[in-house]
Amino acid sequence: MDLPDRIPPRHFCPPIVDEKGGCDRKHWRNFGCRHGRVLLYNRKQKEVVVWDPPTGDHRQVAVPPEFDNEERMIWNGAVLCAAASDHSHVHGGFCSCPFKVAVVGVTLNHTQVFASIYSSQTGKWSNLVSAAVPFVVYYVARPGVLVGNALYWMPLGHGYGIAEFDLDTHTLALVECSSGAKDLKGRSRILLAQNGVLCLAILSGHSLQMWERKVCSEGVASWVLRKSDKLQKILGRSSQNFGKQISSPKIIPMQVYMVQVCMLKWTRKS
Ligand SMILES: [Zn+2]
Repeated sequence: MDLPDRIPPRHFCPPIVDEKGGCDRKHWRNFGCRHGRVLLYNRKQKEVVVWDPPTGDHRQVAVPPEFDNEERMIWNGAVLCAAASDHSHVHGGFCSCPFKVAVVGVTLNHTQVFASIYSSQTGKWSNLVSAAVPFVVYYVARPGVLVGNALYWMPLGHGYGIAEFDLDTHTLALVECSSGAKDLKGRSRILLAQNGVLCLAILSGHSLQMWERKVCSEGVASWVLRKSDKLQKILGRSSQNFGKQISSPKIIPMQVYMVQVCMLKWTRKS
């Protein structure tokens, strides 16, 4: 694969200016992009902003006060095109391309995750739904993954689990991680494999494991280990002292690798 396109950070100033004509980045969170739009959250104004960078057009949507207050905090979200399931659909401007925005957060008593979804076609948020978390949960910092018509995020705290938000039924549930995730110490990522299933990448000790979530015809889900490789094999000779480098106070060169999830190939990018 070729190097990805790189856009200077200055191009990513939120498309909204404050009352002084400036842009105070500390109030903004970038929740990621999908289907050509970027989703931003203004923590001060309590509103999401769906931004179309090629045109600079954007839409602001206020979140209900009960989503982000002294009891709950929004931690992440996802934007998607409402017409994406139509294979003849071509993404375009806001007039031809309605959108949905999902938000996910954590209750400040650290016991539940919650979610809701907004539709630009109805102009309404769905009812807030919650799911109990069987461990102390603090935040949902990592980007979500869209698999079929469900969004997945990994809440982080004193345990491991994956929040599943079904966009058809507007239900939220906590999915167990693979048993291999118990020893992760937070070094894991959820991914979408090219065959359309949820994957879990686990960095455990000196090896990287790829787990795939299989759902049988009866609806019972299980995790299957698809691949496990030593980091030394994946990264090459430069990783021979990988463990020592991590704990060393010396500055080490940053290296970026890309994994092709469909083929489980590893490529060094920088
Ligand atoms: Zn679209």
